[in-house]
Amino acid sequence: MTEKINIVLDASKIDLFETCPARYNFRHNLNKTLPLIHKAKALDLGSLAHEGLAVYYKLLGEGISYAERSEAALMKIRELSSNPKESNSEPEEVEVLLKAVEQSCDYWRAEDENCLEILAVEQPFAYVLFEDDIVRIIISGKIDLLANFIGIGRNASYERLPIDHKTFSRDSVLLRKSNQFINYCAAAESNYLVVNRIGLQKTLNAEEKFKRLPLSYDPIYIADWKDNLRMMILNEYLTCVANEVWPEKPTSCNKFNRLCEYYDICDSSGQDVKELKLERNYVTAPEWDVTKLLTAEEVK
Ligand code: SF4
Repeated sequence: MTEKINIVLDASKIDLFETCPARYNFRHNLNKTLPLIHKAKALDLGSLAHEGLAVYYKLLGEGISYAERSEAALMKIRELSSNPKESNSEPEEVEVLLKAVEQSCDYWRAEDENCLEILAVEQPFAYVLFEDDIVRIIISGKIDLLANFIGIGRNASYERLPIDHKTFSRDSVLLRKSNQFINYCAAAESNYLVVNRIGLQKTLNAEEKFKRLPLSYDPIYIADWKDNLRMMILNEYLTCVANEVWPEKPTSCNKFNRLCEYYDICDSSGQDVKELKLERNYVTAPEWDVTKLLTAEEVK
């Protein structure tokens, strides 16, 4: 009997495949990226904030005092940002981030202490989206913060509420259609999600910089998302896998005015040149797997 093909995808991989299959192939099949020095500063600062906030909310769940947990969070950011293997942000940029994280924790302190019952921090998950005799499609992810929200007074309460931290330098529209957000709700079996926005602007006041934006998803919306995702994976992703062909999508080369990190490769003539550049100018990144701490039994 032949073994079933396991396809494991998370929202980041899905987004990348939908953006450009060739880009997905470079990053997730060949595991090639530009060296850290080229990493977008916004992404780097976002990762540092996540690490610090993970410490903060873990300690909140353990009942540690505000002073201790905020100090531990800032220390984590300082430690990572001073390691050139972990971060390429300048000290001034890190200072702005540290201040923003500290102010955000302070701004939400009362709500966090009185309303949040921490269930999990940076919790990986995986569930089976589709399965037949040949293939099993597993969707994975990692939720920044999962908590029960205990509403006080006239505020409603929510169980198993996913909370996603997002740093931002420029205000932008929050899209409900985000694969990441719907995936979190599908995994947590929640119809609600909160985006915890942390502004890095120096000129805005706290109300403008630190917003917790709620999004709601009814069960039909989530079921439609799953159907659409299943069809995309079966019809498009598996075709690429079966043919070992990952087409380029030139309309995505300069998306949001940011040049794709593989442009130099795609903009070359001939497979030999492309392979040479890939070997010379790119490094081998660790395999992207947000579920590596999960056991097979934990896949729902
Ligand atoms: S440069 Fe364009 S075609 Fe090439 S991987 Fe990037 S988005 Fe795709």
